[in-house]
Amino acid sequence: QHAISIQNVSKIYQGGKQALDDVSFDVPQGSIFGLLGPNGAGKSTLINILSGMVMKSSGSASIWGFDLDADIRNAKANIGIVPQEIMFDPFFTPFEALELQAGLYGVPKSKRRSMELLRAMRLEDKADAYARTLSGGMKRRLLIAKAMVHSPPVIVLDEPTAGVDIELRQQLWEYVVQLNKNGTTVVLTTHYLEEAEQLCDEIAIINHGKLIAKKPTKELIGMA
Ligand code: ADP
Ligand code: ADP
Repeated sequence: QHAISIQNVSKIYQGGKQALDDVSFDVPQGSIFGLLGPNGAGKSTLINILSGMVMKSSGSASIWGFDLDADIRNAKANIGIVPQEIMFDPFFTPFEALELQAGLYGVPKSKRRSMELLRAMRLEDKADAYARTLSGGMKRRLLIAKAMVHSPPVIVLDEPTAGVDIELRQQLWEYVVQLNKNGTTVVLTTHYLEEAEQLCDEIAIINHGKLIAKKPTKELIGMA
């Protein structure tokens, strides 16, 4: 069983723009999987389909074996999405933001692990600070913690390092690698080839909505 399976997925937006054209690929469990492509390739559209924000026009997708159409509840329970844009209420503290998210996902009080997640993301000192006082890097780490509150086996990061300086990028990579070592399957989108090469076990390349390659990273290097 795959962590994520995408089968013949197409998306045509209202107005006629075709953002995805018959895309199929599987993400193996336990991997760090990179979705690589230039701006406008269709990466966000694919992520938004997985998160339920965008309806696909055709094809099928499943998360941890649960079909996105037939079994959305279980599909959603098995994935955590880290959006590209930083968004949370500036007046909540990181601890409150995680507790709120846990509530939204119906995680019982006895199973919550907000402090553990804050420690994993090195935010324990900021647990009770207001979110608006966090640095950019701290905010991105808080978004990762938020996506993990319901302990999903798969986490998807949409351009985690877009607009991030080199030092913070390196730091975010370390967190991603750590999550993966702890057993989480990681999917990330990026338009940086070196980022995908350094982090990912396997890379899918999309351009103009079409999948143009999907290979283990070591086979891709040298092709370009
Ligand atoms: P990427 O994330 O790879 O930059 P996107 O998935 O955001 O690519 O966009 C793929 C294509 O679909 C682009 O041409 C973009 O302009 C278009 N697009 C994205 N969202 C919409 C929308 N809501 N309506 C119409 N076209 C869209
Ligand atoms: P992102 O960078 O996260 O892909 P965009 O800046 O492409 O986001 O899109 C911002 C908003 O505009 C989204 O709601 C997206 O669906 C919409 N959008 C993007 N491209 C188009 C487009 N070509 N036509 C209509 N809406 C679009």
